Amino acid sequence: MKTLTVSVVTPSGPVLEDEYEMVVARAESGEIGILANHIPLVAPLSIAAVRLVRGNEEMKLAVNGGVMEVSSNKVTILAQSAEKPEDIDVERARRAKERAERRLQSNEEHIDRLRAELALQRALNRLNVANR
Ligand code: ATP
Repeated sequence: MKTLTVSVVTPSGPVLEDEYEMVVARAESGEIGILANHIPLVAPLSIAAVRLVRGNEEMKLAVNGGVMEVSSNKVTILAQSAEKPEDIDVERARRAKERAERRLQSNEEHIDRLRAELALQRALNRLNVANR
């Protein structure tokens, strides 16, 4: 099957650049699957796993929002953070999840609920990608 080049970049540097047959990402408008020779596209991404498929292999990345651009058989994902499963610190993600849940359960007025909600989504995404 034909491949496309996938490049994932964050402010800390490149996370991955390799050839895959299919990229499946969750855009804000819904799930999108990209195969070779896809039409040009720019889409904002949700906080979710991006699946990279090659033959029988599938690898997941925990991508924290950002934007996906597709053109000339290349998929570029620019995000605030993106981690491979082996780079995820599971204990750190569990702590972040508990912190966010505590904030969301508290009745204190100064809590920034949207910020806590996004922190919870990032932590759940990491735990999902790390398979925990
Ligand atoms: P925390 O509250 O633990 O910092 P966070 O969701 O606020 O979590 P981010 O702002 O999304 O963290 O990320 C900041 C940097 O830390 C990024 O480079 C990201 O890749 C990294 N990072 C955050 N959490 C983890 C984790 N559990 N494992 C590995 N890297 C992480």
